[in-house]
Amino acid sequence: MTILILGGTAEARRLAAELVGAGWSVISSLAGRVDNPRLPAGPVRIGGFGGTAGLIDYLLATRISMIVDATHPFAAQMSDHAAQASRRTGIPLFGLVRPGWGDHPAAADWDWVPDLATAAEQGGSSRRPFITTGRQSLPAFGSWADREALIRLVDVPTTPLPANWTVLQSRGPYDHDHERALFEQYRPDLLVTKDSGGDHTIAKVEVAVELGVAVLIVARPPIPEDVTTVDSVPGMIDLLSVR
Ligand code: NAP
Repeated sequence: MTILILGGTAEARRLAAELVGAGWSVISSLAGRVDNPRLPAGPVRIGGFGGTAGLIDYLLATRISMIVDATHPFAAQMSDHAAQASRRTGIPLFGLVRPGWGDHPAAADWDWVPDLATAAEQGGSSRRPFITTGRQSLPAFGSWADREALIRLVDVPTTPLPANWTVLQSRGPYDHDHERALFEQYRPDLLVTKDSGGDHTIAKVEVAVELGVAVLIVARPPIPEDVTTVDSVPGMIDLLSVR
């Protein structure tokens, strides 16, 4: 019985480590989006499957018996393909979805927007935005080329960015002191982020609130309706164990 973990997150790596350690047969899959990815324990495959059809071919050829979608909450296309492939093949699919930040005590003070385009519209008056929504999101902020924007990315973009933008290449997690020092150095007037959830990157939002910097937060895309989800690695192990 082999489990395919669709990964690219810390939770996916933790799950792979636990399952491999307990003797399960697991293959982790990464999109291959970042240079030098943190590799999970056990066998790993890297790169897209070629849409839902390619994923189905892979599932059948590799005799996958269960799929765990532990991708990032904003990796909606991969989650959708996994849900379709599960429906068509009958291979069970379970989602490992880290809790979002909607229950954070300060969440009511943030401006929640449904997507990046709305974020770009709504943050219109900012002069010094701090954008942490990821490399693929940057085209949405094309109209902000004249801003003194600070952009934090895991990998530097391959296409040129506006000269006014400062790019910080780094990978979390980030703690409170780190984020406070960053805000004091760059003095952003707006934080644009997305509801990634978890505790690895929440410090920037908390520091923004402390310093009175406005927060624009992109809400998560919906999870495919028929997918059973849990919100923790132990919860997923329990779920897999009873199958
Ligand atoms: P996406 O938009 O949902 O997926 C785009 C395409 O990338 C998919 O159709 C699939 O290609 C391929 N893909 C995505 N995840 C894959 C995986 N785990 N294994 C194999 N192929 C995968 O995804 P994304 O937002 O670009 O995210 C890509 C990866 O980065 C994910 O693994 C995700 O967990 C991780 N990540 C994403 C974010 C984020 O904010 N989106 C943040 C941190 C980490 P094919 O159609 O060819 O199969």
